[in-house]
Amino acid sequence: MPQIANRLTTFEPSTIVEIANRVNDMKKNGEDVVNFSIGIPNFTPPAHVYEAARQSLKDDMSVKYLPSRGIPELLDAWTARLGKDGFDYTTDEVCVSLGGKNALFNLFLAFLEDGGEAIFPAPFWSSYTGMIKFVGGNSKIIRCGADQDYKLRPEQLEEAITDKTRVFLFNNPNNPTGMVYTEEEVAALGDVLVKHPDIWILSDDIYDKLIYDGEKFHHLLHTHPELKDRTFIMQSVSKAYGMPGWRVGMTAGPKEIITKLTKVAGQSFMNVPGVAQVAASAAFGGSHEFLKEVKSSFVHKRDLVMDALEEIPGIVCPFPHGAFYAFPDVSAYFGGVYNGTTIDNSETLCKLLLEETKVGTVPGSAFGEPNALRISYACSEKQLKVGMERIAKFFSQIEGGLQKTA
Ligand code: PLP
Repeated sequence: MPQIANRLTTFEPSTIVEIANRVNDMKKNGEDVVNFSIGIPNFTPPAHVYEAARQSLKDDMSVKYLPSRGIPELLDAWTARLGKDGFDYTTDEVCVSLGGKNALFNLFLAFLEDGGEAIFPAPFWSSYTGMIKFVGGNSKIIRCGADQDYKLRPEQLEEAITDKTRVFLFNNPNNPTGMVYTEEEVAALGDVLVKHPDIWILSDDIYDKLIYDGEKFHHLLHTHPELKDRTFIMQSVSKAYGMPGWRVGMTAGPKEIITKLTKVAGQSFMNVPGVAQVAASAAFGGSHEFLKEVKSSFVHKRDLVMDALEEIPGIVCPFPHGAFYAFPDVSAYFGGVYNGTTIDNSETLCKLLLEETKVGTVPGSAFGEPNALRISYACSEKQLKVGMERIAKFFSQIEGGLQKTA
């Protein structure tokens, strides 16, 4: 047998994608499954995005290779958008990538090797650890439970930093918890980071436009502009603009490194397809009025989920002000029995929820928090109501649960 490279055998598949595949199989078999597992926005991009994309096909710009950094129209549109959000970048400090995933992957490639550490709080977006391992880095995870609203505290960050720390990874608003850091909380983390000049800061801001209840987006570069020469902002059109399949992500950071990243792009995928870049330019550059409706719909759905969770004894769910996820701590039910099966962790619990009550959720272990499960509420209101009713019934039928509150 020819040999395969080690990195391929150690590559971790995404739990979320595995669950989503199982849900799809069940649907194909005619089962009535409600899917709360995957974080895909359930709305389409605004009309001006499609118009720009159609026009670009008429002009057929994609008969040539395009610049790896990104087409000028997109770089202009995104830097202008960054400007409106309080960040000062020029087009030679930004580049495009194949979605946010590829942006992160390239940043990990740039900064991690030989066991170099990336530190970040758990709960975290599940793909981080797999990507870090793939490039030869180590994940150092700082657990932040429901008792601290799943938020990283400055003293925890300080304690986690060692000589091996190469990267600090920060995702706000957070997937899977929906938590949004306050200005004071961001500033306190910034106070720690300024003391450690050898650490790169990767800021995954992919949910920055999905913040509710009058809360605001606060960034390390707003509270500590002096961190700019080692901070990278990562963005994407996947979430707020409803364009996950268009695969456009953006990175902003120090000019020299961004130029190196464009070379990685040039030697791997060459360029993001022109039609997708034009559509992304329209998304970043066009009116953001549509977001009002998107946000009010998400608030309504979030409230539906939170009201339903509140009725279930023993469940603790820090209130999510951003993204489209709720992340309840369900550990009070560990040790309980559902239909003859003992629930020893969130994986068993999610499996039972899916197989027995036909609701797809993701176990918290996929995000580094084994006590919880993730509910994505980016689905129809009807599905949400049906799914939450099933969840409530499921918990009411667990025998001998409520270990912590008993
Ligand atoms: N970062 C976070 C926190 C995410 O939740 C996701 C997608 O779910 C990504 C990055 C990657 O997004 P994409 O590759 O679709 O742009």
